[in-house]
Amino acid sequence: MTHPASVTNSATVPAPVADVTPRVREHALSLPSDELPAYLYDLAALREHAAAVRSALPGSVELYYAVKANPEPEILTALSPYVDGFEVSSGGELAHTGRVVPDRPLAFGGPGKTPAETAAALAAGVARFHVESVHDLRMLADLAARVVPDSRVEVLLRFNLPLADGSLRTSALSMGGRPTPFGMDPSEADDVMRFLTDGSCPRLEPRGVHAHLASGLGAEAQLAVAESVLTWSVRLFERHRVRLHEVNVGGGMTVDYAEPAARFDWAGYGAGLARLAAAHPGPRLRIEPGRALTAYCGWYATEVLDVKRSHGEEFAVVRGGTHHLRTPATKSHDQPCAVLPVAAWPHPWPRPTARGELVTLAGQLCTPKDVLARGVTASGLRAGDRVLFGLAGAYAWNISHHDFLMHPRPGFHFLGR
Ligand SMILES: *Cc1c(COP(=O)(O)O)cnc(C)c1O
Repeated sequence: MTHPASVTNSATVPAPVADVTPRVREHALSLPSDELPAYLYDLAALREHAAAVRSALPGSVELYYAVKANPEPEILTALSPYVDGFEVSSGGELAHTGRVVPDRPLAFGGPGKTPAETAAALAAGVARFHVESVHDLRMLADLAARVVPDSRVEVLLRFNLPLADGSLRTSALSMGGRPTPFGMDPSEADDVMRFLTDGSCPRLEPRGVHAHLASGLGAEAQLAVAESVLTWSVRLFERHRVRLHEVNVGGGMTVDYAEPAARFDWAGYGAGLARLAAAHPGPRLRIEPGRALTAYCGWYATEVLDVKRSHGEEFAVVRGGTHHLRTPATKSHDQPCAVLPVAAWPHPWPRPTARGELVTLAGQLCTPKDVLARGVTASGLRAGDRVLFGLAGAYAWNISHHDFLMHPRPGFHFLGR
């Protein structure tokens, strides 16, 4: 993407959000100023997307939702009919998800589980434990004997496997294939399998392998990762003559913030998983996406408070900021956005208006890091105009530092119920 040579702004131009749903647009314009900023979620759009994802996957592939992407109760409830279960990674997510969508299968994972969290997960009858270390495994075995003495606890072993292709390490966030605190080193695999099969922990049943190696991968790269995880797991379990029941190949399906209309190729991915399953009959495949399920259903709606020119560049300051929508700060990107012009201006003095073509949208925080999008094409943007930031349905509100500077919290509106 290029920007006009006449403009001095050196930032790239973020793509405008094209597909603002009508109910989100209407709602964003209908809210009084003092009810902004607000998160608007389009639950009908979420259900439609989740149904499309589900139907792109082979029936044998299980779909879990990674709750950490967005745990809002309305989101979990809307997703529930389309997923086989929920992946939770803390005692908090475990209790919350159990309350909001009771009786749905839960997979409990995460590094650094406390004894209290593990005991709570056992007591809650969690379907799958994702074990992240030998210590995690021993603690689970010890607690299982006390908390659920009459049951067998089903375990997936999380391994930090090498990525199929070294180039995948450049993905936005890689949790595997390099030194990280996640999962077990593959060099420990045989010892762990022996420990699980030599009678040391009779209550634990090794069901298979869990790997979540990278985030931000396209379908082809995801399939390469899935294939290498699956073939590695088949060999490990064969070596130890244990039946491999299931392999969880993780989440991390890409969301392209620079190309907000683009979607992960679920059809291609589903077809590839079907080929993989046919080539390795036996283990059930499971995936656990977060971001690619919920990012598209959420919007952060706000209004421009002021517009100014500073050293040759145009800035618009909006109500709210990265303390509500931290995604652009953590991912160092420009949040895609759409401007909704508002004709009314209530004051007798001139309306602050952008004179240049490109405008940087900043928040209310007293830090230069509080930037939501740089170089937005918004000539004539005025104080009082509204802005909708898209792709704000995942890793947005729930990863933000809400209390910094003590501004009020945004509203939350769940549309299309
Ligand atoms: C965060 C996480 C996911 C989801 O990742 P996305 O990039 O949101 O799809 C899945 N599994 C594990 C173990 C995770 O930590």
